[in-house]
Amino acid sequence: MKAWHVQDKDGEYQQIVFADKRSEAISKSEALGWDEYINVRARRASFADDLEKEPSKLVEAQLEDGWWFECYGEQCFKEITFEDEHCIVDGRIYCGKCSV
Ligand SMILES: [Zn+2]
Repeated sequence: MKAWHVQDKDGEYQQIVFADKRSEAISKSEALGWDEYINVRARRASFADDLEKEPSKLVEAQLEDGWWFECYGEQCFKEITFEDEHCIVDGRIYCGKCSV
């Protein structure tokens, strides 16, 4: 399925949503809770196409595209980019220190 990069107008909240159409991506996104529909943007994120059932590959693809994530390790909160040592388990990302 087509992947969409959905975000609010300030880019504060960002998410990958899978949908056939832009309007569907926006209505399926969590962004509608963050902001009004008119302030939510969606653009194609072809790097993530067809990864909806592969959460770990999706996270890796997002990293390669320049996203960063917060470590899922308890009380860690480290920001992880593609260059950082990391490991991904079931779509959750851990920094080098929290990886087991
Ligand atoms: Zn960590």
